[in-house]
Amino acid sequence: MKPSCQHHSSPSCAAPSSQQVDDFLAQAEQLCAQRKQRFTELRRTVLELVCQYDQPVGAYALLDDLRDMGRSAAPPTVYRALNFLQQQGLVHRLANDNTYIACAHPQQRHAGLFLVCRACGGAQEVHTRQVDNAIARQARPFDFQVEKASVEVIGLCAGCAASDSGSGARD
Ligand SMILES: [Zn+2]
Ligand SMILES: [Zn+2]
Repeated sequence: MKPSCQHHSSPSCAAPSSQQVDDFLAQAEQLCAQRKQRFTELRRTVLELVCQYDQPVGAYALLDDLRDMGRSAAPPTVYRALNFLQQQGLVHRLANDNTYIACAHPQQRHAGLFLVCRACGGAQEVHTRQVDNAIARQARPFDFQVEKASVEVIGLCAGCAASDSGSGARD
């Protein structure tokens, strides 16, 4: 099954346009309604904030944003909202640095495959069924039921690798 993503031909779902963010929020609302989950004002706002970063973002940065918007929110409130969004597949959590990234494919449960740049902190989700398939295949002999999986590959993005090679770091 092909994911219903408008930009699956592009390698990146990062830095969406405001139209894409609006569409995504509408999609999230619809999805929560279908699943009989409450897409509260706070959950919506937190998701919108996550979308506005072109890099994975931590809970405390979101907390600052909420305060800048004049909303008083405590860390547990933000973590609860993030937890909810994560459960609904609307965001992924990167364990590497405990940050969150919006997912363009919330309709489909999938293993996350992330390319995380150690220099700029950028992360790219790679959409492929091959990771899910490989994990399922490896878990089968153990009768292990996979519920969620995440693979984080740490390295250098193209931009950082290019500036790195110019710095004479080799040899
Ligand atoms: Zn995803
Ligand atoms: Zn980078």
